[in-house]
Amino acid sequence: METLLLVNLFHELALKGGNRPFFLKRAKAHVKEALKGTGARLEAEWPMALLFRLPQEAWPEAKERLKDTLGVEGFARVLRTPPDLKALEAALEAVLLEERFQSFRITAKRSDKTFPLTSPEIERLLGAFVKEKTGAKVQLKGAEREWVVRVLPNAALLEVERHPGPGGLPPGVSGKVVALLSGGMDSPVAAYRLMRRGAKVVLVHFHPFPLLSGGSREKAKAIAERLARFQHRIRLHLVPFSEVQREIIVKTPKAYRVVLYRRYMLRIAEAIAQEEGALALGTGDSLGQVASQTLENLYVVNQAATLPVFRPLVGLDKVEIKAEAERIGTYPISILPDEECCTLFAPKHPVTRAQLSVVLEAERHLNTEALIALALKDREVVRYTWPGQKPLPKAQGEAPIMGHGPLDG
Ligand code: ATP
Ligand code: MG
Repeated sequence: METLLLVNLFHELALKGGNRPFFLKRAKAHVKEALKGTGARLEAEWPMALLFRLPQEAWPEAKERLKDTLGVEGFARVLRTPPDLKALEAALEAVLLEERFQSFRITAKRSDKTFPLTSPEIERLLGAFVKEKTGAKVQLKGAEREWVVRVLPNAALLEVERHPGPGGLPPGVSGKVVALLSGGMDSPVAAYRLMRRGAKVVLVHFHPFPLLSGGSREKAKAIAERLARFQHRIRLHLVPFSEVQREIIVKTPKAYRVVLYRRYMLRIAEAIAQEEGALALGTGDSLGQVASQTLENLYVVNQAATLPVFRPLVGLDKVEIKAEAERIGTYPISILPDEECCTLFAPKHPVTRAQLSVVLEAERHLNTEALIALALKDREVVRYTWPGQKPLPKAQGEAPIMGHGPLDG
């Protein structure tokens, strides 16, 4: 008996017509990369499934990784036996000792049609065996425990434990998108959703350092590091935004500040998109969530961009977004206190129905080209890879996120 890992690819990958081989190839490469360092070795493959040999002790780690591997529909720990009933019974008996259950079913799938028993016969015989060993009852619908048995020409596979994957398309199959990442809860979820649709995401964070502390920068780094888990390689552009803000604060109407910040963020992000070869931007806006996200304001902000701006959270509410942030592991980072560039200088009464004519007039007083160039010149770019990333040095990974004071930058 050996521990094997069966990985099923996301069903949508089968629907890609002529591009199907390309999508499947990327999905396989992504799965293999996710398992790097676990000792997993590819043993066999089918169009929509991969079978790896796995050292037994590597299963817990492989499981944690595959739960976050885009393009994976589900995966299972599998025992391989010779293709005969006695061997399957021995394998079942070994795993029965690990578990307790009142009802169960066996589901047999026979791809070797020369095997002397039909699928229902296999199910009946193995069912009787398990019943005798455990006293549990067979229940075809809603059983507490299900075992799937596959009979192949040279082996039988017994699925011992199955988990869902995240689904989605593997990174990069849909092209590149620049996602605007704040320190908040929404934008990491938006970036993740874009990744899940196969976009290769490049992150951009605007921070108020050195005008204010570097806290938001450290938070963005921690989030980027977490998001690397889904994409394996990710770049984060850290763009100083205080010069832009200073100009906006001094030269434009107070109520329009946030709308103007957002327009400049889109412009700078678009310049980065051009360098990166990205064809769209992404934000964590949701319709009507806060004053800056009324339809009028989104419209006026959007006019600053020429690329499409994707807002994958537009139809979600806070509860739904929070649940997803928790699931992808960005929530605990997002709720750490920080000094975000937009909130601190935000007016008490921001405009909720911004007018494009007012914005365009205000921007006549700003040297847009020079502000964009300055922000781009002073930006830092940080790269994260996963798995196999070296741990971050302490100073970067821990202290600054929580330990900064208001003016310690
Ligand atoms: P989030 O939780 O993502 O911050 P939010 O609900 O707080 O979202 P806003 O603060 O209005 O909403 O920001 C809307 C979107 O603008 C964010 O989701 C993000 O995509 C972008 N954004 C805001 N601030 C920044 C920033 N400092 N750097 C990069 N992008 C930003
Ligand atoms: Mg925010």
